[in-house]
Amino acid sequence: MSKWHSDRLSKLQPYLFRDIDRQAGEARAAGRDVIDFGVGDPDKPTPSFIVDRMADAVRDPANHQYSAGAGSLAFRETVARYFDRRFRVSVEPVGEVLALVGSKEGLGHLPTAVMNPGETALVPDPGYPVYHSGTLFAGGICHTMPLRPENGFLPVLADIPDDVRSRARLMFLNYPNNPTSAIAPLSFFEEAVAFARDHDILIVQDAAYCELHFGQAPPSILQVAGAKEVCVEMHSLSKTFNMTGWRIGFAVGNADALAALGKVKNNMDSGVFGAIQEAGIEALEHLDHVEVRALLDVYRQRRDIVVGGLREAGWKVDEPVATFYVWAKCPAGLNSMTVVARMLDEADVVVIPGVGFGSSGDGYVRFALTVPNDRAAEAIRRIAALKW
Ligand code: PMP
Repeated sequence: MSKWHSDRLSKLQPYLFRDIDRQAGEARAAGRDVIDFGVGDPDKPTPSFIVDRMADAVRDPANHQYSAGAGSLAFRETVARYFDRRFRVSVEPVGEVLALVGSKEGLGHLPTAVMNPGETALVPDPGYPVYHSGTLFAGGICHTMPLRPENGFLPVLADIPDDVRSRARLMFLNYPNNPTSAIAPLSFFEEAVAFARDHDILIVQDAAYCELHFGQAPPSILQVAGAKEVCVEMHSLSKTFNMTGWRIGFAVGNADALAALGKVKNNMDSGVFGAIQEAGIEALEHLDHVEVRALLDVYRQRRDIVVGGLREAGWKVDEPVATFYVWAKCPAGLNSMTVVARMLDEADVVVIPGVGFGSSGDGYVRFALTVPNDRAAEAIRRIAALKW
């Protein structure tokens, strides 16, 4: 082990995505024509009206100083208006809203803010790896909740053992879900809130994909009566507005938990660049802008190419109703690593192995729909030619 790496770091699960990126890079360097459905990073630029606002804001000297740690009042008021418009939920801009340096930052720091060493976090499997790493950094222990297709990729709360419930401090949920693309109905959020209240658990619902949907808009957990007593919801501008590089998101919900998170943040970062918050205001105020709506059409077309093509090739795959991920069952009962390796070696196509999101993800691969139509169609042709 490296001399300066703490023991804490050695407990982290290997970051599988980095390995796959490296292998894809080697294939590219060898001159192969790689088509990459790997990391979920939008390929199209940020809508121009948001970039324009940023360009103006960056010239304002007021934005050159430290920003207010919790986010500017204007940004937090914009979030409160968005919550009212979109979810019919009323939140206090001061106290119930916190700006984040991307939602990953909030998800990663929250366990340190609310957990004591030795306490347990309930973590979905498969799930976004930050739930694990944030918990480990806080000295917490993860108990995984399997997400299975027969349950609509929702955790079965009744399956959480009694001793784990009593030790649990935190429960991570993520709907619309990465990687399975499942949406949680409000009835599941009601069940989860009741469970959290019964067992004194704080729910962190990761809503990073809540505006990336192809039909009915997914709910917020804060729509459930009493949810603010036991819930924090993390939101992101990254995927909705193609702003992954900008680093802006927000947390909404229980004021006490957000005060704790704010305390950690005050000791770790000094807020989001003011100009980025101004651009964030512009974005959130214009969710219906034609350039933003057009992004959904792009993903819908790609989804139809990938899902339709895989089905024709004999794969079993559900059509995602949200997120830009296709969660496909591996052909011929193979495990995910075998399928990923053969797709890269024999078809020059990169997908992420489901097992990289946890053991319950094995037997699946994830396609991120961040590849243009013609390239997606070419990838499907290559995949269809593989004999499993
Ligand atoms: N949650 C999930 C489920 C994600 O997939 C991602 C990004 N891939 C994030 C949170 C983090 O997004 P950001 O930090 O850019 O807001």
